[in-house]
Amino acid sequence: MSEAQSIQWYPGHMAKTKRKIEQDLKLVDAVAELVDARVPVSSRNPLLATLIENKPRIILLNKSDMADAAETARWIAAYKQEGAWALAVDCKSGKGVNGFVPLVREALKDRIAQWEAKGMAGRAIRIMVVGIPNVGKSSLINKLTRGGKAEVEDRPGVTRQNRWFRVGKGMDLLDTPGVLWPKFEDPIAGERLAFTGAVRDDILDVEWLAMRLLELLAAEYPQVLRQRYKFEELPQPLEGAALLELVGRKRGMLVSGGEVDTLRAATMLLDEFRAGKLGRITLEKAGR
Ligand code: GDP
Repeated sequence: MSEAQSIQWYPGHMAKTKRKIEQDLKLVDAVAELVDARVPVSSRNPLLATLIENKPRIILLNKSDMADAAETARWIAAYKQEGAWALAVDCKSGKGVNGFVPLVREALKDRIAQWEAKGMAGRAIRIMVVGIPNVGKSSLINKLTRGGKAEVEDRPGVTRQNRWFRVGKGMDLLDTPGVLWPKFEDPIAGERLAFTGAVRDDILDVEWLAMRLLELLAAEYPQVLRQRYKFEELPQPLEGAALLELVGRKRGMLVSGGEVDTLRAATMLLDEFRAGKLGRITLEKAGR
């Protein structure tokens, strides 16, 4: 159905990834962490913040083309308050990616001044790129290196070796094969990652997932249901099964006897959400 990660996360595997990140951190001056702008909380690795400790952190809210722009702006302000640097990007089209190098230089301006004072003005800045599978790491590196140098994997999570990429003059990016595990031990986070297609589909109940997404949309983005699925009124109470039934009916997805084919309706709804066809939606709001 959609892209699904091919990695299974075992405790041993997670411990190995953690050690690898700790080692790689010694090689870099700052960390660029990609998150999905539609689910900025659930798409963060639960351990990363503690691993990074004192290194400057640049948070890239990726897939911002599919997120609510006002919410993305609130997230950027919230990260800045935490002492991180943040930027909205769309690594598919490249929108916003031009802001990355200047933001890194800003985040590291004290270090750069120190290097200059020591006569090391030419030293390249080293940045580690991290994020959960499917968040857009390869796409970012591809854009920053102007294409061709980093292949974008359609099936995320494929193991890669450490690779360095030169970005313009004076900056090197470390692409870590140790992709980070998502926050899947929290069922709500797991569900939200599943909405975006970042976790395996084959272990999930598609109809249940679609019903949960519809309940969220009905509460937070009712206009989306009116516009995309021509709902005149929302069924009350806002209950997933009734919402899914209505979506299927509006799309004429009926089986013999006039019943709604809810599996087909659910699959279509999730596909449309994942492709951004429902409009720009943020499921996790800053400060809430
Ligand atoms: P990685 O596993 O973190 O390296 O993720 P990829 O770079 O392979 O991206 C995973 C999928 O998300 C691909 O199908 C990309 O085309 C898509 N993608 C990446 N960034 C964006 C973005 O900003 N917007 C949209 N709409 N899709 C994106």
